[in-house]
Amino acid sequence: MHVAVLGAGTMGRDIAHVCAVAGHEVTLRDVDSDALDAARDHVESNLAGGVERGKLTDDERDAALDRLTFTDSVDALSGAGVAIEAVPEDVDLKHAVLSEIEGVLAEDALVATNTSSLSVTTVMDALDEPSRGVGLHFFNPAYVMGLVEVVLGERTAVEDRAVGFVEGLDKEAVVVRDTPGFASSRLGVALGCEAMRMVESGVAAPDDIDAAMELGYRHPMGPLKLTDVVGLDVRLDILEYLREELGERFRPPQVLKRKVRAGKLGKKTGEGFYVWANGEAVRPAE
Ligand code: NAD
Repeated sequence: MHVAVLGAGTMGRDIAHVCAVAGHEVTLRDVDSDALDAARDHVESNLAGGVERGKLTDDERDAALDRLTFTDSVDALSGAGVAIEAVPEDVDLKHAVLSEIEGVLAEDALVATNTSSLSVTTVMDALDEPSRGVGLHFFNPAYVMGLVEVVLGERTAVEDRAVGFVEGLDKEAVVVRDTPGFASSRLGVALGCEAMRMVESGVAAPDDIDAAMELGYRHPMGPLKLTDVVGLDVRLDILEYLREELGERFRPPQVLKRKVRAGKLGKKTGEGFYVWANGEAVRPAE
């Protein structure tokens, strides 16, 4: 299958990697040549890491790289049977990208969006044939994470093909309706939100709350550390959106708003619910 991936950023480059390893011919398109160069380096280095860890052989790595094309040309997507857009989370931009590519894809192409929060139904309004549109919500890093949410828009008529495609990538498909936060973000954010309220009301320190979930419930990472990794600003945006759509139970905690106002955004700024150094959480923040 010829797979077109639009956007060579954090998600697109890893989705392209996954599709190429699964045996698809992949064309990764971006409008920014620096992003394309960085994506090529990133995928090469991750495939080399895969060889070192014994996940794939030298030949499999070489074959995957041979199947990957990095381009700024829309024509290079010609005849693709699957397109996955991973451009920034802006509905107008996504509409422009889907309108631009629909005509060059195969007539029966499946068109997917990797949006993490927008309505799939709304994103697919840009298509002449919205019934071929579906959400394929990959998780970061896509070449490691085993889950893809298959999000069904109001007019989606390609559920079985979408699930089959995901399974062919050796990922687990979870089918969800097009609702705010899908299944994963909604639950993940709810847990993080309650953990923040517990910090606020002095129930326990952040590292103890995280340890409770890591050791008591076998979560690989506690909800507060995860909030630091994702970014407090990102979580605040999601909570505000979910509050608008689903109600007051998603009201952002004051402690989150205060930290974001102070520029304490988590791992990326060196402090959130933890103080970070060299990519590691070294102690809970004051
Ligand atoms: P990003 O900013 O890292 O990458 C986006 C890329 O799209 C950039 O390289 C940009 O140059 C490119 N782009 C912009 N306009 C384009 C166009 N017209 N045609 C082709 N490429 C274009 O963004 P990201 O973090 O990879 O997010 C992409 C999508 O995936 C968003 O919808 C986001 O919500 C979703 N998502 C992100 C994550 C995450 O952890 N980052 C996880 C799941 C889903």
